[in-house]
Amino acid sequence: MEIRSVRGMNDLLGEEIHQWVHVENKIRKVFESFGYQEIRTPVLEKLEVFSGTVGDETDIVEKQMYQVITDSETYVLRPEGTASFMRAVLEHKLHITGQPARFYYYLPMFRHERPQKGRLRQFHQFGAELINDPSPEADAELICLLDQIYQSLGISEYRVRINSVGCLQCRPTYKDKLKDFFQPHLTNLCEQCQKRFHRSPMRILDCKREGCREIAKAAPLITHALCIECKTHHDRFKTCLTQAKVTFEEDPYIVRGLDYYSRSAFEFTSQLLGAQDALGGGGRYDGLSARFGETPFPAVGFGLGMERLMIALAEKQNLPKATSTPTFFLAPLGEKAFEFLYPLSLHLKRQGIWCEISYDKSKGLKWLLKQANRVNAHYSLLLGDEELKTGISILKDMKLGTQENIPIVSLSAELLRRTHREP
Ligand code: AMP
Repeated sequence: MEIRSVRGMNDLLGEEIHQWVHVENKIRKVFESFGYQEIRTPVLEKLEVFSGTVGDETDIVEKQMYQVITDSETYVLRPEGTASFMRAVLEHKLHITGQPARFYYYLPMFRHERPQKGRLRQFHQFGAELINDPSPEADAELICLLDQIYQSLGISEYRVRINSVGCLQCRPTYKDKLKDFFQPHLTNLCEQCQKRFHRSPMRILDCKREGCREIAKAAPLITHALCIECKTHHDRFKTCLTQAKVTFEEDPYIVRGLDYYSRSAFEFTSQLLGAQDALGGGGRYDGLSARFGETPFPAVGFGLGMERLMIALAEKQNLPKATSTPTFFLAPLGEKAFEFLYPLSLHLKRQGIWCEISYDKSKGLKWLLKQANRVNAHYSLLLGDEELKTGISILKDMKLGTQENIPIVSLSAELLRRTHREP
């Protein structure tokens, strides 16, 4: 029987790891320069963290959660970051000062979706969350941050679409209007949207099916239904984005799949991706803490998918090539040479220098040089019985093809000097 990884859950190997780490480091730098602090939450959470908070009627909670059931408890593998974040904020009272605080996370997410290009069952998200700041400037900051992340990686092929989904004051009236509009079309909506009609009619606007989209085209728009506070907030949000020189479009059909959003919602989509073209997205979720039974406090955030970002970077041929290779390959010809070179190899490693050594003491010169070439070492150090006798070892520059003699007594110091590090 061949044992394979779970469908939609990938191994990351070789060159890919190098590329991921490079991209991850760049993203972390942007977060730091915007003043965001990392937070890590566990992979497993209690079911209640998501059900009843994120919204039972969302696809994520309704259909896509992986559950781990023990005798006494049902846990889920984290399907999204914000609810876990909120649980941690409340548990550690990170919101209690009432002062704005900025956090970011980089964590694997698990959703039981149908895998395809850019859609996995285990995927990785960077997320940002800004709490205790109700201002439209905070919403715009999140968009600038996401924009800066893509720009810093050399990606500018995306559209930023924004909307306001209103608040608890104006949304119920709008929902009623939407229901009145969709009621006569109900039988022509897809099965999913027929369910949405009762529980979350705004999500019909988000449906990708052609039939539903066609009907939704004539639906009343939230833009005309916002209360004065939401409208003022939205207008200021747009002014901030203009000031920040972020190009955006208004799209009243953006409702986000999750129910805890209020006011600003946004999505970044890219033509560099296939059918799954959402690069990242987020919005304001002032209502989420109340769903945990706490006094509401403002919060805004986003999530960006790493796998999709890597697809976009590959499409643009913007991924780095692996550049780091060993500085030294120590080639011991025989047992005696090995006894000398083994401690030297450890010494160099402890000095932070990448140095390889062959543990096979029986090999000849040709084989050893082949290994040095295979690992792409800059220098090979050759040492055999003859060299031990004369007290002179041979250092070969594998790139230039030149070689020089180095006295064994000062070998360690000489090798360190080659790396521009004084012994
Ligand atoms: P969401 O949490 O659904 O708002 O998703 C935020 C971002 O995560 C999306 O814009 C995608 O880049 C990424 N994403 C969401 N679902 C998946 C998935 N199943 N596989 C890979 N990336 C995903």
